[in-house]
Amino acid sequence: MKRRRKRQNINKKNSRKKVLKPIRPLPDTMRRSVRIYPEFSPEEQDAILSTMALYEEAFDDFSSYCVFHRTTSRKKLQADVYPYFRTVHPEFPSALLQSVRDQAAEGIKSFNENNPERKYMVSPKLKGSTMRYTLRAVSLRGNLLTLSTVGKRIRKLIEIPRFFLERYPKEDGWKFNSALVGIDFRDRIYITLVYTNKAPALMELPRDPEELEKVTKGHDRGAYNPLSDSDGKIYGSKHISDVKRRYAYDRKTCQEKGTRSAKRRLKALSGREKRFVRDASHCMSAEAISDESVRVHVLENLSGMERQRERGAKGKKTRKLISRWSYSQLEFDMRYKAQAKGKRVEFVDPGYTSQECSCCGTIDRNARDKGEYRCRNCGLRMQADVNASKVIRKRWIMNYTHPLAADSGSKDGQAAVSQPGRPGESQAHPEMDGVPLVNGSRSGAVPVEQRPRPSLSG
Ligand SMILES: [Zn+2]
Repeated sequence: MKRRRKRQNINKKNSRKKVLKPIRPLPDTMRRSVRIYPEFSPEEQDAILSTMALYEEAFDDFSSYCVFHRTTSRKKLQADVYPYFRTVHPEFPSALLQSVRDQAAEGIKSFNENNPERKYMVSPKLKGSTMRYTLRAVSLRGNLLTLSTVGKRIRKLIEIPRFFLERYPKEDGWKFNSALVGIDFRDRIYITLVYTNKAPALMELPRDPEELEKVTKGHDRGAYNPLSDSDGKIYGSKHISDVKRRYAYDRKTCQEKGTRSAKRRLKALSGREKRFVRDASHCMSAEAISDESVRVHVLENLSGMERQRERGAKGKKTRKLISRWSYSQLEFDMRYKAQAKGKRVEFVDPGYTSQECSCCGTIDRNARDKGEYRCRNCGLRMQADVNASKVIRKRWIMNYTHPLAADSGSKDGQAAVSQPGRPGESQAHPEMDGVPLVNGSRSGAVPVEQRPRPSLSG
């Protein structure tokens, strides 16, 4: 009896582990934004702040209704909440009220999607007090911006940074789409101008696996090296992980102290750390995408990682590794930068990428020796993250050129890898069965790797 229960638990665990959420495609419309700080007169500031106060009130009304009635239907919100708010606050612009309604419904909808077992168990807050202005509430003609508020419509001459207009010119199809109005951490009113454009068509891909490999790059996102690629490049210097580690240390000491000033410092730290990570991610992704000869960038699907972090991954070390780098930020940055160039970012199953040999396909749990991958079957020696990047590229090319074979193979693969090969034992990768070897994948057996260290300042 006891034994059976134990086995069931094990099965449950395994089945949960394998669940990979498919990565949602980016929308066809590209968005770029720029933040400006116009100088408002005291009256204008008052008008904006009062508008914001009502915006928050409306947001509370809409989202409480959603939670109470367990609905995210805009129709219901429009019928039941909208008229009520309009009667109580007729001065509040109706276009803004529609934005609030949509923002509240979307917020709760995405909470439900992310927490399927705790649907509607949320008390939503308007993040950082940001008002969403659609074109019905904001207009921009040349340098003249107008904004609806509870008072008069504000008319303001603004200055749009020149770099932004040069990078996203009208001639390329960029159009002013909407604005966000909010207050930053220094209590200044800012306006984020949002421009949109249709994404360019995707570049054609060669059918021939050998040609395909030439235009495909695999990328591994590790904990020690934030990003590396299948050409042997390691992105982001050691500086990044050092800074990350320092932040982690400071955070820990602050948390241990627990005094009020320590908490304040913690908050400041987290903001600074976030900005640092964002900047580093920007630089690395830009560099990774910059190679014009590449049309496909392949990443691991790490959608399971967030879940693992929530549950508390086993072992202190794993937890640290998971939390040290922001995978999703880097992923997002790479995806939207690739989209603008008509490049693809594709995803593969992350299972055993760090244990597999990119040359012969052997899966060996003990092949990793610190930073190096040492294959005990074919003798390959390679920087471990670069080896993983090559495995990632190989896996995608296999899936793409032989979709059916890879599909049926991966199932057997899971069974086979649950008993990792003993050292010296030749074990072809299951995905290879009955599938011709992609030519060139063997060319990965270059023992020496140069490690150019790109600087971050670029
Ligand atoms: Zn090997």
